[in-house]
Formats: sequence, C-alpha cells, structure tokens
Amino acid sequence: MIGFQYARAGNVAEALREIAGNSAAKFIAGGTNLVDLMKMDVERPTKLVDISRLPLNRVEETPGGGLLIGALVPNSDLAWHPLVEQRYPVLSSAILAGASQQLRNMASTGGNLLQRTRCAYFYDTATPCNKRQPGSGCSAIGGINRMHAIFGTSDACIATHPSDMCVALAMLEASVHVTGQSGDRLIAFAHFHRLPGDTPQRDTNLSPDEVITAVELPPRGFAANHTYLKIRDRLSYAFALVSVAAGLELDGNTITEARLALGGVAHKPWRDARVEAALRGQSASHANFARAADLMLSDARGFEHNAFKIHLARRCIVRALSQAARGTPQVQSSKKIR
Ligand SMILES: Cc1cc2nc3c(=O)[nH]c(=O)nc-3n(C[C@H](O)[C@H](O)[C@H](O)COP(=O)(O)OP(=O)(O)OC[C@H]3O[C@@H](n4cnc5c(N)ncnc54)[C@H](O)[C@@H]3O)c2cc1C
Ligand code: SF4
Repeated sequence: MIGFQYARAGNVAEALREIAGNSAAKFIAGGTNLVDLMKMDVERPTKLVDISRLPLNRVEETPGGGLLIGALVPNSDLAWHPLVEQRYPVLSSAILAGASQQLRNMASTGGNLLQRTRCAYFYDTATPCNKRQPGSGCSAIGGINRMHAIFGTSDACIATHPSDMCVALAMLEASVHVTGQSGDRLIAFAHFHRLPGDTPQRDTNLSPDEVITAVELPPRGFAANHTYLKIRDRLSYAFALVSVAAGLELDGNTITEARLALGGVAHKPWRDARVEAALRGQSASHANFARAADLMLSDARGFEHNAFKIHLARRCIVRALSQAARGTPQVQSSKKIR
C-alpha cells in the first residue's frame, strides 16, 4: 500500500487552501482517470483533495446567449442536458461517443479536459517515457506507435490527447474558467492544452494549484449543420483513431462559417485556421471538402505504424463535412441507451 492524505473540500476557497504549497497534491473529481493512474503507479500524489462535492454541478445560460457548464457536471448529465441537445448537439454526440455510460456518469467536465494520454508506454512503468519521467526517452517513437500523433509531435513525445468531448469544445471555441491563489483566469480552449515540445510532462497551461470551475460555450452552436465522427477499432468503448467535429453555417449552398477539429491525431484537439478560412465563401461540395482535407493534412507526419491515420483523417474530414452540410449528423448508438 502507498499511503496518501485525503481531504474533502466543501467550497472552492477550501479546495485552494488544501492544495496550496503542496506540489505533490492533486484534485480528484470522478476519479475515473486519476485512480487508474495511481493503481498503475504512474501518478503518486501524497494528498488527494476531493472536489467532487463542490457546488459546481449546474448548467446555466449566460447573459450573452451561451452556456456556463460547472466543472463538476457529469459527462452524462451534460450530454443529455436539453439546452446542449438543442443548441450544441455536436457536444452531446462527442460525449456519447466516449467511454461507457457508467464512466460518463462518474466523469466530470473538468476531469475530462485533464485526462491523460492513453499511450501504452506512459502506463507501463517498465519502459522509458518522457511524459511520465522527463528525460528518460520516448518508447513510442521507435516502438508501437499505431495510436499516436500525426500533428504537432516533438522529438520528446508523440502522444495524443484522448478526449472526445474536448474535440467538440475546441470546434465550438469554448473557454475555460479557472481560479487559483493568484485569482481568476479565462483560458481560450485553443490555449488550454499544450503541444509536447520539450516539456511533454505538461499537458495543459493550468497551474497545479489552480482549479477549473467552469467551461463556457459561446452562443454559436452549429445545431443545424454539424457532425461528430469517431473512427475506432471497435464500435464502442474505445479511444479514437481519428475523430472529427465539424460545424457549418450555410446560406443556401454557400458556406458562411466553417469549423473543423480533429481528435486522436495530436497532443491537443487539432484545428487549422487556414482550412476554415479556405472553406468560407465556397460552395458545400465534395470537391471543396476534399481540398480542405488535403490542406489540413498537408502538415501531417506519420510514423512507422500510424501513417494510415493520414489517409483515414482525409476521408473522415470529407465525410464529416458532407454529413454536416446535409444536416444529417451521425447518430451514436449509445444515444438510444439512457
Ligand atoms: C475504460 C475507459 C474508457 C474511456 N474512454 C473514453 C473515450 O472513449 N473518450 C473520452 O473522451 N474519454 C474516455 N475515458 C476517459 C474519461 O472520460 C475520463 O477518465 C474522465 O472524463 C475524467 O474525469 P474525472 O472527473 O473522473 O477525472 P479524475 O480522474 O477525477 O481527474 C482527472 C485529472 O483531472 C484533475 N481534475 C479533475 N477535475 C479538476 C478540476 N475541476 N480542476 C482541476 N483539476 C481537476 C485531477 O487532479 C486529475 O489530474 C475513458 C476512461 C476509461 C477508464
Ligand atoms: S509518446 Fe509521450 S507518452 Fe508515449 S512514450 Fe513517448 S513520451 Fe511517453
């Protein structure tokens, strides 16, 4: 047994006090990722600050017409929330494409953002891994890298971020409310997760003593023309090989606004402003979607076992944009199971 202290916080100020000054302490929410990491000896916090009872479990409309999602809202409650289903259905689809119903009942909004990579070497403490032990090397670069990144990799790490929900949040241009000893901050979703660079041990720009309090969605929800497409090794309960969140606004057949984010391909949800700009003003046609996919993949780099992701991503982008344009988003099979 490896011992650790446990403290349950009743409010945000108490949570911040409990974590202050202890770099080996961690918050715990649903525990669906952190407890696994502790069991496998990948993470060894000396203290757990339980934030699962904080009053951050509401979904509220903002004065500007968006939504404020408390950090403790369970993934399943968020997916089935009427306002999310009506106004941000791409977020519902993305959440329901992830994990299992039981896990989604436990998993929190904040915890989903901070779940760690599923690189098998990260979990295997017998192998070198720069993310787990900085400076030890990356076993994936010359190893089995079928699940790994094709964008934004570094010589230190080629891991992917495994979240489905985050791909939709990136596409929707959400922002993350955080608070810490030095006050409150609002972090644009694009700047929340980091690329590995030479510090792959840092997944995000959140400080260890900061807590996520909420995720905010802007009013634009792409409810009429959207798709979340997830391709994985089996139909459910598997992480994405490639996923695509696509949203379009159309005037007749002309694209007035386009959003595209990819999952399973980088250390963070992957967007490319050039591609979205190139789609604006164009007709919603297969040829234009194929050109957009080519542009998006022009910077991709495959490794020994994952070069197939480049071709797969190209086809997924074309399919997701075509489905979004038709207004016929993919229905996740788990949607039928409440
Ligand atoms: C078998 C399995 C399959 C899965 N499949 C998928 C999948 O297909 N798609 C997918 O997207 N996800 C999948 N998941 C991951 C799951 O979605 C995450 O484990 C979950 O979202 C994490 O939320 P949590 O509340 O349990 O986080 P925890 O495990 O409690 O915490 C995770 C991390 O976040 C930190 N943290 C939590 N909340 C806060 C906060 N408010 N502020 C600051 N720090 C915080 C903790 O300190 C910890 O470091 C799967 C998980 C499992 C176990
Ligand atoms: S890809 Fe990243 S997480 Fe995986 S072994 Fe290499 S350094 Fe570790």
